[in-house]
Amino acid sequence: MKKIGLIGGMSWESSVVYYELINREIRKKLKGFHSSKCILESVDFAEIEEHQKSNNWEKLDELMVIAAQNLEKAGAELIVLCTNTMHLCSDSIKRETSVPFMHIADATGEEIKKKNIGKILLLGTKFTMEKDFYKKVLKEKYNIETIIPSDSDREIVHQIIYNELVHGVITESSRKKYLKIIEKATRNGAEGVILGCTEIPLLIKEDDCAIPVFDTTKIHAKKAVEISLE
Ligand code: GLU
Repeated sequence: MKKIGLIGGMSWESSVVYYELINREIRKKLKGFHSSKCILESVDFAEIEEHQKSNNWEKLDELMVIAAQNLEKAGAELIVLCTNTMHLCSDSIKRETSVPFMHIADATGEEIKKKNIGKILLLGTKFTMEKDFYKKVLKEKYNIETIIPSDSDREIVHQIIYNELVHGVITESSRKKYLKIIEKATRNGAEGVILGCTEIPLLIKEDDCAIPVFDTTKIHAKKAVEISLE
């Protein structure tokens, strides 16, 4: 079993879920007393959020590289960055470390492809929905077309993540807002929805939607276990 290095704390509400999912998956696969060999490098999200707000991606690159290098020094054999948004820093991490890196959009793209879906709604932070780093992987490597909500709906999705979900606040009114946005996209041809922020699965469950749901936290954690056991 390879030792998994998790970069977490973004937010810790979803890092907890990663830890649980990874261990449950190991137990399912290996049975008995088995659990995951892993290390968690957990950052202070306040620092990260401040740099995100001021669009200081150079500094964020630097912080993510330090976190990844700490894991490498500690013996991690695979690096898993437990957030979609911060994959904006994935090129720097890959360049500055020599440990395999599992990109969350690759893990997700593979799952979408298995279901033969060609057009998908992407929900996440504004960084994930509006910048190219995520959509590009899906388009270029998996030929999946991504659609994103309207300006005002993106604002709703983003604000709920930062004002509620990362603080562990889950409300019925926000769930309804997300479901309305998903329904709108379904009418516009979305064949599935990516919960492209690791906290969204705290709010939206697979059974809540009429179209297939791709829970990136679950997909990424499962893929990490698969690689760990290769
Ligand atoms: N966990 C979130 C994501 O998957 C958002 C928090 C962050 O900015 O990292 O994008």
